[in-house]
Amino acid sequence: MTALSYVSEDKHSPWATHLAQVDRVLPYLGELSRWADTLRHPKRALIVDIPLEMDDGSVRHFEGYRVQHNLSRGPGKGGVRFHPDVTLDKVMALSAWMTVKCAAINLPFGGAKGGIRVDPRELSKKELERLTRRYTSEIGSIIGPQQDIPAPDVGTNPQVMAWMMDTWSMNVGMTSTGVVTGKPIHLGGSLGRVKATGRGVFVTGKVTAQRIGLELENARVAVQGFGNVGSVAAELFSQSGARVVTMQDHSATLHHSAGIDVAALIRWQQQHGSIAGFHGATTISHEAFWEQSCDILIPAALEGQITAESARKLVCRMVLEGANGPTLPEADDILTQRNITVVPDVICNAGGVTVSYFEWVQDFSSFFWSEDEINARLDKIMEQALLAIWQKSEQLAVSLRTAAYAVACERILTARKERGLYP
Ligand code: NAD
Repeated sequence: MTALSYVSEDKHSPWATHLAQVDRVLPYLGELSRWADTLRHPKRALIVDIPLEMDDGSVRHFEGYRVQHNLSRGPGKGGVRFHPDVTLDKVMALSAWMTVKCAAINLPFGGAKGGIRVDPRELSKKELERLTRRYTSEIGSIIGPQQDIPAPDVGTNPQVMAWMMDTWSMNVGMTSTGVVTGKPIHLGGSLGRVKATGRGVFVTGKVTAQRIGLELENARVAVQGFGNVGSVAAELFSQSGARVVTMQDHSATLHHSAGIDVAALIRWQQQHGSIAGFHGATTISHEAFWEQSCDILIPAALEGQITAESARKLVCRMVLEGANGPTLPEADDILTQRNITVVPDVICNAGGVTVSYFEWVQDFSSFFWSEDEINARLDKIMEQALLAIWQKSEQLAVSLRTAAYAVACERILTARKERGLYP
């Protein structure tokens, strides 16, 4: 393979994690492995400068990205992240995981991702709107309903998607709702989208619990991240009789062995902006999160959180990867050796992109489905995809992650092979 000149040399970087995951699946790809280098080269990586006039009249410059990793199976699909730690390397890895995720679930999309290196909490609403609109204009030539369809990720939400949709629509001279997903409902958004990723985490957890003989009633759950993904997953597990015993966000780590009242914690967060100071649990140290005994661990914050060190300490039966790329490759090996079942991100958190696909289909047909219909279709797709991957993992005697990559890469590389190379 030809090394890319623009990637970091850090062997723990998200892109390095992606490359290691590709290496692990190679032995199972047969003659398709001839095309595997396509997974090691993003198709397109755009870096843009975003000059922003601040409310005080000063001008600041921000770095933005949109990476289309692979478009063999359809238009690009992937979120937009506003976070101070966004780098090209991370966006590349996140776009590659989208390629694999869409193929693992069998959605007709390729993989893409975008982001701006910014802390959105430091901006006023007007500044955030101007930043979003300028970013959308800068990447406007490579996105579109048939080209590449952004969606929310960390630090972005339906309002940001509404601004992106409006900006792109203004630039092309017509209202185009299908250019982004995760929009507000009255702008062509889909019912069920906001909770879809957390719901998918719960559904894959329920199926896995059955497979490994774990009762959900009273099962102890620990969740890192109380945002869009983590809070919904915590809520659904708690509603199904499990106890959310440990909860961490950027501000605090909470513990309560009888189970945290998740509904009360959601109300607290809405009022205070974070979980810090919540009265219904004990505050413990940030590092102690990984040492708390539980049955189900849900990393739902950022990538690279489960290191070899934390993997040795974990006391749990399964890990549900709500976040993208939360487990480093050597930590993955340790979890496999320790017989801890890991439901990989590319399946576990695919609920969001699945309902994004439903949203895109509904926008094209201008015909909208009920929430019950959406949830029923989502649950069925997630259950079937996970069961197919369990089957593959048993057939190949590999982890669920390698099995998910095997299923996905077969689809991606078959498309690559059948399309052939142009010219
Ligand atoms: P979010 O911004 O809504 O929430 C992120 C949460 O992580 C917040 O509670 C924040 O406090 C917490 N956090 C941040 N840094 C932390 C740290 N150092 N330690 C502990 N907690 C920390 O983001 P989200 O949309 O819930 O996304 C979370 C993860 O799920 C990301 O990896 C994202 O890529 C992935 N994901 C999101 C979606 C989606 O539909 N939103 C879909 C698929 C995957």
